[in-house]
Amino acid sequence: MRVGIGYDSHKLTEGRMFILGGVEIPSEKGLEGHSDGDALCHAIIDAILGAIGEGDIGKHFPDTDLRYKGVSSLLLLTEIVKLAQKKGFEIIWVDTVIIAEKPKLSNHIDMMKEKISSSGISQDIISIKAKTNEGMGFVGKGEGIAVLATCLLRMRKRK
Ligand code: MG
Repeated sequence: MRVGIGYDSHKLTEGRMFILGGVEIPSEKGLEGHSDGDALCHAIIDAILGAIGEGDIGKHFPDTDLRYKGVSSLLLLTEIVKLAQKKGFEIIWVDTVIIAEKPKLSNHIDMMKEKISSSGISQDIISIKAKTNEGMGFVGKGEGIAVLATCLLRMRKRK
């Protein structure tokens, strides 16, 4: 068994879409980033990479690489799920916490799970929770959002 932890934060800015877990959510401000800014996918990617000992998201998808400009982070997550499988790991469980003052996210969680399932992490092995930061800090002031993710992986028996 292996566990991994991931963290990501993105700045909220005008003129960007708010995409989280592959879902476009109506919001005054969106998430800044080289890719689509999907901090949930990024945190899950780092949790998986941590568990398989493969560094972090920046090593695999550098933000200096034009190939990843504006790319859907679901595609990046799909690549990392494939990498874990290739290394002989099976994902058992992914748990996440999104910390955002707004927009309200609870109504979008089921759709996020559905979108994320396209990466190979099925809906019944992912948990997504959303909370605010009670008005405190950069999240509370609406300057950005933060996401935490953990995952549990099991190495398949070798023949
Ligand atoms: Mg990120």
